[in-house]
Amino acid sequence: MKPFTYVCAEDVASAVRLVSTEPAAKFLGGGTNLVDLMRENIESPQTLVDVSRLPLAEIVELSTGVVRIGAGVRNSTLAAHELIRRRFPVLSQAILAGASGQLRNMATVGGNLLQRTRCSYFYDQATACNKRAAGSGCAAIGGLNRGHAVLGTSEHCIATHPSDMAVALIALDAVVEVENVRGTRRIPLTEFYLPPGDTPQLETTVAADELITAVELPALPMAANSRYRKVRDRASYAFALASVAAALQVHDGAIAQVRLAFGGIGTTPWRASVAERVMIGAAPTAETFRQAAEAELAAARASEQNAYKIELTKRITVATLGLLHVEAGVA
Ligand code: SF4
Repeated sequence: MKPFTYVCAEDVASAVRLVSTEPAAKFLGGGTNLVDLMRENIESPQTLVDVSRLPLAEIVELSTGVVRIGAGVRNSTLAAHELIRRRFPVLSQAILAGASGQLRNMATVGGNLLQRTRCSYFYDQATACNKRAAGSGCAAIGGLNRGHAVLGTSEHCIATHPSDMAVALIALDAVVEVENVRGTRRIPLTEFYLPPGDTPQLETTVAADELITAVELPALPMAANSRYRKVRDRASYAFALASVAAALQVHDGAIAQVRLAFGGIGTTPWRASVAERVMIGAAPTAETFRQAAEAELAAARASEQNAYKIELTKRITVATLGLLHVEAGVA
């Protein structure tokens, strides 16, 4: 690891000011991804501005019903919070499906959103990777790509976004609040991530000198009937091959509201808006759920080894929505 300077930030304003004046500075939250990247010399910040002790670790319900989650809230704290488990079970389940207990105790909400891909070539300096070194090529295309993306890919990058938490948040219409030297900016999570396109090294619409301070969840009462389903190679501590975050409300035999997002198959956490439109007003049957998943996945483009993800995602979509329908009926 290359030497760096460590600064413990005293408040949000000074943290943002420091990073804005030092282009080679980075914010440090839980460090569960950034420190790994520094060890591998993929990231080499000259200064780390520690924001983990700032007062950003609260989860509060506003008078509007919006739930405001501080960016410094640890993943384990968020998953266990009574408000989250009761009103947004999909979020609690998604977090608990990710990483390990030790990592969840360290990782923060803000850091989780900004974590980098786990494409093995990205971490291997001996291989070509456009995300690590722009213009160098993509070793995953034509290489080992069983775990790679089928949605949102480009000819320059097919890496998946690794977060489970972000998949649940994007299904829940979360809004991210960031602070910069000019003030506060709010970004809907659906506009937060960038597909790789021609510039896979650019992953979000957050500037390097902007600090995530909070994530807000709209009231969304229907999210009380929600679930996260993740398929992976082993029962714990593995990234998703495919996952589904879903919430469902049925009224008078028709789907009144639905939220659906996919993980493990997209270059970004994938809000399945096409599928949602297919389902609104339709009968909550396995046929409807299947048609919706097929409509969303019509845009999927498989590589040599990952075509199985397309059918897998359709099946877990049908199974998860079917279960939500049954559970809503017995609630
Ligand atoms: Fe790099 Fe993306 Fe290709 Fe992986 S898929 S090697 S991250 S460019």
